[in-house]
Amino acid sequence: VSARFDLFRLPAVGPVLRWRGTRRILQVVSLALALAVMLDGWFGPDVAPLNLAGLIPWVHWRGFVVLALLLVGNLFCMACPFMLVRRGAKWFGGNTPWPRALRSKWLALGLLLVFFWAYEAFDIWASPWLTAWITLSYFVAAFLIDAVFRGAAFCKYVCPIGHFHFATSPASPFEVAVREADVCATCTTKDCIRGRFADPSTKTDKTDKADLIQNGCELWLFQPRKVGNLDCTFCLDCVHACPHDNIGLLARVPGSELWTDRWRSGVGRLSERPDLAALVVVLCFVAFVNAFGMIAPAERLAAFVSDQWGITSPALIALATFVVGAMAVPLALVLAAGAWTRRLAEDPRPLVTVASRWAFAWVPVGFGMWLAHHMTHFLMTGATVFSVVASRFGVTSKDLPAQPTLVRASLLPESWIQPLALLFLEVGMLASVYVAYRIGVREYGRSKNAVVVALPWMLIAIGLAAVGAWLLTQPMQMRGMLT
Ligand code: SF4
Ligand code: SF4
Repeated sequence: VSARFDLFRLPAVGPVLRWRGTRRILQVVSLALALAVMLDGWFGPDVAPLNLAGLIPWVHWRGFVVLALLLVGNLFCMACPFMLVRRGAKWFGGNTPWPRALRSKWLALGLLLVFFWAYEAFDIWASPWLTAWITLSYFVAAFLIDAVFRGAAFCKYVCPIGHFHFATSPASPFEVAVREADVCATCTTKDCIRGRFADPSTKTDKTDKADLIQNGCELWLFQPRKVGNLDCTFCLDCVHACPHDNIGLLARVPGSELWTDRWRSGVGRLSERPDLAALVVVLCFVAFVNAFGMIAPAERLAAFVSDQWGITSPALIALATFVVGAMAVPLALVLAAGAWTRRLAEDPRPLVTVASRWAFAWVPVGFGMWLAHHMTHFLMTGATVFSVVASRFGVTSKDLPAQPTLVRASLLPESWIQPLALLFLEVGMLASVYVAYRIGVREYGRSKNAVVVALPWMLIAIGLAAVGAWLLTQPMQMRGMLT
């Protein structure tokens, strides 16, 4: 039996998590919530804090996502409502391979950047109507892509939300992993990747799905060679397919997958994935840019830009902020830190390989900032939803705008929230420093002085945390509140 703690073996919780119906129920619940968001977005009040489309996606869902990632793992891909339409799309029998040129994270990264830019440029969080249309377009995109392409193309190469989860889930304390390597070594069917067929003896071609009774991993993660959480949607198809009950939800040291560079099934080596490195770095920096957009200095900067250069378009100002803060600055820092490490370590590999390898050290500090930011909004305004739901049923609708205490209800005493957010950020920073050190030890051994080669990555993580602490202590626009 594996020595690692296995959440599936926990009494009561384990069997529920592992039961096939649990995922379906979660998906149906999130589909119902998505429908409520769309209907309220189109037909409800135009004021975001009084509309489910202004609250559920931008306050509650984001808060629950980071909390789930912190405590367990990628539970939101597990409960994803788009999976239901993806399953429907499979009836059309789409079996086209995803284009080779798009088999990377560049497309998802581009979509994420467009989303974050549009979020600020068009104040999507303040527009229930836009939020409803974006939700609908997401369902349509998932359906169309999976109606045409084989496997989980939408999840693996397109979905911006899923890629946020993939990029932050290395910080999670659990992973879907094999319990006993020896069992896999003697396994002849490999159903975890191939899928389980009614008559396994006749099936060698896994594209022939005629008598498939259980999917294998559609993300192409082969359990014995899978490392960590990257690309894993926690769908548990592999768990249900394995004939030996050899896959668990196993505890691990959060972040430990970041300092190993062994070849991973469905992913490859981190050092050979500049696209994946770019995704985690951009998401790390966007965490800070996104928070910057909500504080008073951002408004003063916009006023300065308007006075000096006459640029008043929020779309242009947001574009400049993202090009500088989420692209140019991180690129310059990654290349500078990579050049330092490569030179001191006398590493003969190309700069992009070294930089890609080390860039993953910033995952924890980025996650710490996302956690701090999203939890601040969630804890400050989390109880708002009760009054909004009440108003939808006509309980207090007339009185709501006149009862600000109802719509500003926080989930914790407000004086606790900022220290908690700072704690998340600082723990993330310390974890990044530690991951950078461990990468140094892995790559060059202790004799090469892992601290010196890792120093720029550590210092930048500390600098980011300092910036984050400044951001979190500024008066922040409380989106989701009537102010
Ligand atoms: S996880 Fe299960 S199906 Fe996959 S190789 Fe191991 S024993 Fe076989
Ligand atoms: S089937 Fe693949 S994506 Fe789903 S839980 Fe298993 S490894 Fe993760």
